[in-house]
Amino acid sequence: MRPKIKAILAIILVVVLMISLFVGIHVNDQIGDRYTEAVSQRKFANIAYYNKSLNEFISPEKLIMAKERTTGGDPGFLRFFKRSPYAPKTELPIINLERSDFSESPGDFAVYWFGHSTALMELDGHRILMDPVFENAGPLPGITKRFGNPPAQREDLPKIDVLIITHDHYDHLEANTIKYFAPMDMKFIVPLGVGARLVSWGVSEDKIIELGWHESYKFGSTEVTACPGVHYSGRSNKDRNKTLWASYVIKGAQKSVFWSGDTGYSNHFKEIGAKYGPFDVAFVEIDAWNNGWPNTHLFPNQVIKVVEDVSAKLLFPIHLGTFDLALHPWKESIQTVSELADKSQIDIITPVMGQKIIPGTTRTTRWWQQIVD
Ligand SMILES: [Zn+2]
Ligand SMILES: [Zn+2]
Repeated sequence: MRPKIKAILAIILVVVLMISLFVGIHVNDQIGDRYTEAVSQRKFANIAYYNKSLNEFISPEKLIMAKERTTGGDPGFLRFFKRSPYAPKTELPIINLERSDFSESPGDFAVYWFGHSTALMELDGHRILMDPVFENAGPLPGITKRFGNPPAQREDLPKIDVLIITHDHYDHLEANTIKYFAPMDMKFIVPLGVGARLVSWGVSEDKIIELGWHESYKFGSTEVTACPGVHYSGRSNKDRNKTLWASYVIKGAQKSVFWSGDTGYSNHFKEIGAKYGPFDVAFVEIDAWNNGWPNTHLFPNQVIKVVEDVSAKLLFPIHLGTFDLALHPWKESIQTVSELADKSQIDIITPVMGQKIIPGTTRTTRWWQQIVD
């Protein structure tokens, strides 16, 4: 081989190695740390829903995976790299928010939904940010692309008092968002084990409250209680169920809400209703169901049962409008759920992303019906 060709090949090899190294470091950073096995076993040894020998948290129901029953086409991992055929063809409506659109001091009860499971809640004069995700839902650009921009960027938000994470999946926990909030004077409430991820992204331990199921944290008149869910966790192929997932009960002085997190249907909802209900609002995940993974998420008819089980006055659907995770047309779930809610005489609130909602007062439209795909 000529020396010139040898030199070119050597340069290409070095470039490829450097890119691989950079990508590897970046992906590892996005995954975040987890406790070592020894630390997990020490911390979680006495927890009924933790399997010490596997070093894994256990779902109340075993998750079923039946690839042959999957509806909607290719369920393989590669679909997350492609533009989804189920995504909207046009931009969905949003109400753009700037810092000045938020009131000086937070009110007693209001909600802004930012798309998918991200929402800003005002309760008892606190600002609570739920599952904040502003970019794509993956460890590298181009993986699980958003349908469109969120109504506000992180920098547009007013001061947050408490940030709550339901679990460590990428569509709920975003490393760059945690890094942005890490230096700020606020608390981070997360399920067991997720704290290690936050520490690796710069959050100091004294700001993190890790909760197990039925454990609570109180700030002022507001109490947050983590509750069970039928789901799983993980940010890589090596860390399934190493951290916990949760639904939440958030009780203020006057108002009380249930936040479903990601979950399949099970009798845990009736137990939550009996123990912590009734609720003014149930925020329930409605989109990501598939016959191939029948108890990982809720089917539309189960969403209605959840509202009844937990005894909620109002259904606020979440987990829609931003990512295609489950191979069905983007507006199928919200349309079906709203029809079923009407049939069951359940009040449902369906805001445009960015719309300020006073639950029980603000009226919303069925905005998705105006969009022709
Ligand atoms: Zn999710
Ligand atoms: Zn999930």
